[in-house]
Amino acid sequence: MFDKIRIVLIATSHPGNIGAAARAMKNMCLSRLYLVEPKCFPHADASSRASGASDVLDQAIVCSSLDEALQDCSLVVGASARSRSLEWPLLNARDSAEKLYQHARQGEDVAILFGRERSGLTNLELDKCQIHVHIDANEQYSSLNIAAAVQVLTYEIHQACLAQQSPIEEAGGRGGVSHQVMEDFYAHLDQLLQDIDFIDERGSEKLFRRLRRLFNRAELGNDEVNMLRGIFSAAQGRKSMRRQEGRIEK
Ligand code: SAH
Repeated sequence: MFDKIRIVLIATSHPGNIGAAARAMKNMCLSRLYLVEPKCFPHADASSRASGASDVLDQAIVCSSLDEALQDCSLVVGASARSRSLEWPLLNARDSAEKLYQHARQGEDVAILFGRERSGLTNLELDKCQIHVHIDANEQYSSLNIAAAVQVLTYEIHQACLAQQSPIEEAGGRGGVSHQVMEDFYAHLDQLLQDIDFIDERGSEKLFRRLRRLFNRAELGNDEVNMLRGIFSAAQGRKSMRRQEGRIEK
């Protein structure tokens, strides 16, 4: 999926910024760097700022036109330091990353375009983008260093990917538990709370409503329900053992 995403830098003046952008990309698992008419590249400053991401620089494709860099891309997102987009949808970093990620996941080639350090992207270049992205920042000082802008957007793409893999789901969470299983879970919890004398037999409606709200928020999975019920049973077992040993009175 990451191989489907291109980072395109237009007419970058400082080779150090190219190196820093390459590093930012590699940190977030991206490697396809396109340079449209860079002022000086290759350059020692680019290599030194890339640090361990020299492979990204070595594979960078230098193009003589933007169209060449965007060839075969079905979605192009233009990063603009100014929120001046009127005719095009303007998204924030997170939403645009989510969109790029979804297209890339379906096997489409996508690109994010970054402009010149001094003057950004021209209107003609912005015209080639279906979506504009503005990284929300200080309204009085919203222009990030280009490599910092690359970092923010690539970070969000990486986040979109992690969210999709959803480690919570893998751990058995995010709901999907039937109504009956949850009702049995609450009945067990109710019994436990009585057994450990946390509530009396009449229970506590208000406490229980709060507990239901808490567990609803957690969106438990079946494995998690079983794990918690195992803990409840263990606590009940200890309590009855101590009772039998006469260490506590009931
Ligand atoms: N002075 C230029 C900004 C250049 S910064 C201007 O006012 O347009 C270089 C590039 O970094 C920009 O062209 C853009 O692609 C990206 N960038 C910088 N800040 C950004 C922000 N807040 N949101 C989105 N992209 C940004």
